[in-house]
Amino acid sequence: MKSCALCPRMCRVDRSERYGFCGCGDRLKIARAALHFWEEPCISGRGGSGAVFFSGCNLRCCFCQNYNISSEGFGKEITVERLSDIFLELQEKGAENINLVTPTHYVPFIIKALDMVKHKLNIPVVYNCGGYENVGTIKSLDGYIDIYMPDIKYYSDVYAKKYSKADRYFEYASSAVKVMTEQTGKIVLDGNGIMKRGVIIRHMVMPGCRKDSMNIIKWIGNNLDRESFIVSLMSQYTPAFHSDEHKEINRKITTFEYESVAEYCLELGLDNGYVQERTSAEKEYTPPFDLEGVERTD
Ligand code: SF4
Repeated sequence: MKSCALCPRMCRVDRSERYGFCGCGDRLKIARAALHFWEEPCISGRGGSGAVFFSGCNLRCCFCQNYNISSEGFGKEITVERLSDIFLELQEKGAENINLVTPTHYVPFIIKALDMVKHKLNIPVVYNCGGYENVGTIKSLDGYIDIYMPDIKYYSDVYAKKYSKADRYFEYASSAVKVMTEQTGKIVLDGNGIMKRGVIIRHMVMPGCRKDSMNIIKWIGNNLDRESFIVSLMSQYTPAFHSDEHKEINRKITTFEYESVAEYCLELGLDNGYVQERTSAEKEYTPPFDLEGVERTD
């Protein structure tokens, strides 16, 4: 954190003195720690996923639905010790897993917190990220993370730059996802279909970008060990935040756009994951950021 290079932004700032692109200094900050029931069924299960929402983000997606925590810094500072207690509290509440949401810029803290309680955790730890990752950071998580849940958002550098202010997004995301699949190995599900180990690659189809989606799907099909991941195709794109600055994405996707990508997945044999219903409501996927679970209550 004295010269931060945790993610591809490589800001090289001293985070005790200034914020990097992610908007974070050298203190942990979170906006919510609670059971979450709207992840993929193999993650939410019956008990819910123990989601910890970290403040800040290394992407600037103009359509972000969580912009108050990702871009505007909403959240509360906590210690590493408190984070480790939160993990145990979520486990006690019946969480199927610990779900680290947008964790990249806090990886050193997360490793310290897990070192404190990993021996008491008997549920998997999920790294739920936007895909803009350094391979070195992912390698440092070997032995700490059981399930990776990265997005691959763009194939085109033009879209990545325009909509998320990210350079060489696909190059970084694809390299990181490959390392994730190698690290976790073959998918492991328990008798109830709950994931214990593996990778879920998420992709949300965007307006006017179905060819880009197909390029991503094709890369996934041709480059990764098929026993190590599943694809979760998402239809929930909704204009939000600064979407209206780009009129071509200031709309929902059409049935044709979504179904053509879903059919392409089937054509390539990537049919063992999830295809979200076109009619899925988008609001319910975003929980209220109200600091639930952040403070100690006893
Ligand atoms: S984690 Fe934040 S400060 Fe560090 S390189 Fe990435 S954006 Fe910059």
